[in-house]
Amino acid sequence: MDLGIRGRWAVVCAASKGLGYGCAEALAANGVHIVLNARTPEPLEAAAKRLAQHYGVEVVPVAADVTTAEGRARLLSARPDPDILITNAGGPPPGDFRDWDEEAWIAALRANMLSAIFLIQATLDAMLQRRFGRIVNITSSAVKAPIAELGLSNGARAGLTGFIAGLARQVADRGVTINNLLPGRFLTDRLRANFAYNARKLGKPVEEVERAALARIPAGRFGDPREFGDLCAFLCSARAGYITGQNILIDGGAYPGTF
Ligand code: NAD
Repeated sequence: MDLGIRGRWAVVCAASKGLGYGCAEALAANGVHIVLNARTPEPLEAAAKRLAQHYGVEVVPVAADVTTAEGRARLLSARPDPDILITNAGGPPPGDFRDWDEEAWIAALRANMLSAIFLIQATLDAMLQRRFGRIVNITSSAVKAPIAELGLSNGARAGLTGFIAGLARQVADRGVTINNLLPGRFLTDRLRANFAYNARKLGKPVEEVERAALARIPAGRFGDPREFGDLCAFLCSARAGYITGQNILIDGGAYPGTF
């Protein structure tokens, strides 16, 4: 299937590895040029080189922290008018609600709510003028079914979800779609860190915690970031123009509801 986005430009945040990288790779495989972002220059530059060599697209690495205004400005100065924007940032740490002070909450809001909102604010009008735009926010299945130890994520991402629900409908008539992708459990460094936290908390070996998590996934396996990227690329395609304001779970059937 030709996604109809060859030659377009995407800004992909927090993408030297994991789910962001999966999205960047799937877009590059479909001929999209990429501004690739993460905080640490070396792995970011290696990832950019890999994508450019393999897929023959332009890839511009920008090392910047998307949770800061300065980092977002630097990122967008590489491409102020992307056709496609994938927002993403590291997830907040797990913990107990008693331990989260105002500073911890503000950091979570910056990372998992406000950074996406400000990136959208800076890029949306140009998309509207060109009558084409695709925005995908990487959020979490925790928006639909909260994960106890990730309360900071449950709260901050729910705020982003509410904002996007309203905004997507305001711009749908001018060729711009905005959707949220909700990952269940994908085998990335982030997931491994969560397992390590739970193992420490429960005093159990990490393999046991991992097996218990696996047992709750009907697909019987963790997700592959490449599958996540493929869904993201489809949402960014010319063919997905009638999908907007949606929260799309990709979780191997883990969410137990009928819909
Ligand atoms: P990961 O740790 O594998 O990769 C995170 C990437 O983001 C890295 O490239 C890192 O350099 C970059 N990054 C982190 N903070 C950044 C910042 N402030 N500015 C720029 N780059 C930054 O993580 P992942 O598993 O790919 O998770 C991505 C997001 O999805 C996180 O918010 C995570 O909480 C969420 N999520 C992941 C899962 C899962 O199963 N992996 C499930 C639900 C939600």
